[in-house]
Amino acid sequence: MVRNTVNGGIAFWYARDGLPVPREPLPGDITADVCIVGGGYTGLWTAYYLKKAAPSLDIVVLEAAFCGYGASGRNGGWLYNGIAGRDRYARLHGREAAVRLQRAMNGTVADVIRVAAEEGIDADIHHGGVLEVARSPAQAARLAAFHEQERAFGESDRVRYGARETAERIRVAGAVSSTWTPHGARLHPAKLVRGLAGAVAGLGVTIHESTPVTGIRPRRAVTPYGTVRAPYVLRCTEGFTAGIKGRRRDWLPMNSSMIATEPLPDDVWETIGWEGRETLGDMAHAYVYAQRTADGRIALGGRGVPYRFGSRTDNDGRTQEATVRALTDMLVRLFPTTAGVRIDHAWSGVLGVPRDWCATVTLDRSTGLGWAGGYVGSGVATAHLAGRTLCDLVQRDSGQAGATELTALPWVNHRVRRWEPEPLRWLGVQAMYAAYRGADRRESAGRSARTDRVARLADRVSGRH
Ligand SMILES: Cc1cc2nc3c(=O)[nH]c(=O)nc-3n(C[C@H](O)[C@H](O)[C@H](O)COP(=O)(O)OP(=O)(O)OC[C@H]3O[C@@H](n4cnc5c(N)ncnc54)[C@H](O)[C@@H]3O)c2cc1C
Repeated sequence: MVRNTVNGGIAFWYARDGLPVPREPLPGDITADVCIVGGGYTGLWTAYYLKKAAPSLDIVVLEAAFCGYGASGRNGGWLYNGIAGRDRYARLHGREAAVRLQRAMNGTVADVIRVAAEEGIDADIHHGGVLEVARSPAQAARLAAFHEQERAFGESDRVRYGARETAERIRVAGAVSSTWTPHGARLHPAKLVRGLAGAVAGLGVTIHESTPVTGIRPRRAVTPYGTVRAPYVLRCTEGFTAGIKGRRRDWLPMNSSMIATEPLPDDVWETIGWEGRETLGDMAHAYVYAQRTADGRIALGGRGVPYRFGSRTDNDGRTQEATVRALTDMLVRLFPTTAGVRIDHAWSGVLGVPRDWCATVTLDRSTGLGWAGGYVGSGVATAHLAGRTLCDLVQRDSGQAGATELTALPWVNHRVRRWEPEPLRWLGVQAMYAAYRGADRRESAGRSARTDRVARLADRVSGRH
């Protein structure tokens, strides 16, 4: 074990205030107008917007553990405008539709910040944008292409920096260039989900925690304590979806792991800069993401062991020691003056990856079953857009409202094929990440500006591009 490091305990984000005491479980059979399964950002934003739109609706949220137990309480706190699958949606539905989707995402970042303020949710939000850096010629070429592509999707306010300007923001060792967008903010994930659950309960939504749903059928959610009957049952379980009967191969549960340092002393911060509190990422294939926390730490994440055989998920956030070491090495490579700083916490969480890497939001009008997710690690903002969209879809279906701009977005009602059965699924993901790690090593060592051939192949085979 890496010394003095808390491993698991759900996530560092619960270390100071402790885990929430779960609300009462479902007391027995009940009926409702809408039943939402899963108390993360997706489920809670859906409940929030539905209740705001129609205060008389009887809405029940069923959560297996406590609101924020999943990725919503464990993530890197990047509230940003990226959405998985936009480029594929451009190919499927045309560029104009994908630009509408991107615009909706840009607006979503501002919306979350606004609603958090309106609801009095203090989630340590700092609107400093997103800085993504390149640390090799191949990464720099990818970054340049990415920058131009994002601008072409309407982000005229995106800025590209050379090495010197990058260092003026954040001194990342070896950074040769970067791209910055204002459409991003740093936040404390657990404070957001906890505040949101409080706001939703305050509006009159019933939340039952410690209530695992064992079966989802049209107009029914079954739990060990009783059944909820409702015209609409909305599955908002993202990375845990594979654990629900009949849904094992829908979305692959991908692990992501993080570490948080001790609060860094001022002299270390002086060597790093990072005054703007931008969320920080790189352009590696197995990329890292990081934030400067409100209490002066670095929280940094990456893939670790990406996938466990049979779609198993972690044990309350516990992560492998090899992953903790790999992330600590990465921290020191990016910021050499952090060598020797204490790592206070390590944890992991699970996110949902569809076979075509496209996020979706769906309401099946014939069964009343709905779902949203497959955000592939870009879910903090996307879950908000999904929640608003599920609300509009239910409102339209029940005749309370018509079609809206959101119901016409290209990710609505997108269907995707399922993942391969085991052991192919496990072998495929292992091979893909081995390919990415090898490609990152070769790109870092080499001078070529071309993306590594093996990584390009892995992208194609995995369905990522
Ligand atoms: C380590 C990590 C870092 C990440 N960093 C970022 C980031 O910086 N920025 C970003 O945009 N995205 C990030 N993501 C992704 C993002 O956190 C997720 O996409 C988002 O939180 C998904 O929200 P959700 O509500 O759909 O799912 P979750 O937050 O996973 O919520 C699902 C809920 O459903 C409950 N549940 C599961 N099964 C059942 C059942 N059978 N019955 C009842 N309840 C059930 C779970 O307990 C859980 O509370 C990260 C993810 C991880 C794991």
